[in-house]
Amino acid sequence: MKALVYHAPEGLRLVEIETPRMGAGDVLLEVAAASICATDLRIVGGGHLKIPDGVRRVPGHEIAGRVAATGPQVTGISVGMPVAVIPNIGCGACDQCIRGQTHLCPTYEAFGIDLDGGFAEFMLVPERALRQALLVPIPEGMSFVEAALVEPLSCCYNGIQAGRIAPGDTVFIVGGGPIGLMHVLLARLAGARRVIVSEILDERLAQAGLFGADVLVNPGTEDAREAVLRATDGGGADVVIVAAPSSQAMEQAPDLAAAEGRVIYFAGLPRGQDTITFSPNRIHYRQITVTGTTGASRWQFRRALELAAARRVDLSRLVGAVLPLEDGLAAFDRALSHRELKVVIAPGGSERRVTG
Ligand SMILES: [Zn+2]
Ligand SMILES: [Zn+2]
Repeated sequence: MKALVYHAPEGLRLVEIETPRMGAGDVLLEVAAASICATDLRIVGGGHLKIPDGVRRVPGHEIAGRVAATGPQVTGISVGMPVAVIPNIGCGACDQCIRGQTHLCPTYEAFGIDLDGGFAEFMLVPERALRQALLVPIPEGMSFVEAALVEPLSCCYNGIQAGRIAPGDTVFIVGGGPIGLMHVLLARLAGARRVIVSEILDERLAQAGLFGADVLVNPGTEDAREAVLRATDGGGADVVIVAAPSSQAMEQAPDLAAAEGRVIYFAGLPRGQDTITFSPNRIHYRQITVTGTTGASRWQFRRALELAAARRVDLSRLVGAVLPLEDGLAAFDRALSHRELKVVIAPGGSERRVTG
């Protein structure tokens, strides 16, 4: 089969590799769509701790496809079934897994990082992933491309939940890329009265306006702090979500939160540059909650899928380009430009919809 394989540390290559061999309890998935995430860009740039030199890995953890074959011991999943993939496999036994937070399991494995992922014609889904119900049926009418985007949406759902947005709240989102835009859509659904977005790239900032942001700030040309305080009559935003790897925005975030506001670090910072300073007094005297989110739970994934299926979030709006696997290297270049919405690789041809 054809696959995009990251040869650590040299880079990504489009190569022919053996189709994965299935065990009795495993499933073989025919990948229909897999979208490129910032994590994939970090992997192929050589920046992932879990992929040391010498390892060959098919990246891709935002995946939808059709069940191509099932092992004789597999039950509840049949050939031809359209499914989206929850990418993190927890150990199943630690406290976090027992709480349903498998994405916080200290020894979790992820498709596209620890196991081969979705940028290939086929992907092996091992028995331990099936036991955790990581294949979620795609409802009729949803395209595979949309289904692949449910994974990043589920991560944003986690961020939005941590923000505990109440109807009428003002939400300030740092970052106007696809992740920032998903936060805009979800903040609106959660009842935000006003959404402020800051973004350095002007075309992305304008796009945030089309997605429902009311106040647009370019921190490259104006003071984000002043703009947020002006838009909130000096009070600050009820919820501040930092969805861009900006240390400056992270330092500033508690200062821009209203009394009893919530600050969510959705993004992380590169290793070695991951120290920021701020005064705890702002948090103390104004009772601000500072927290972070990473990934999503299986339950949040299902919620995100339901929202997209019900068209409360139209994921098709977030698609920048759909390219065949043969153009996978070009797809990565386009994703690296950071000027497009989600770039999706569709090994089996682009816009197949799920029917019956
Ligand atoms: Zn991702
Ligand atoms: Zn665990």
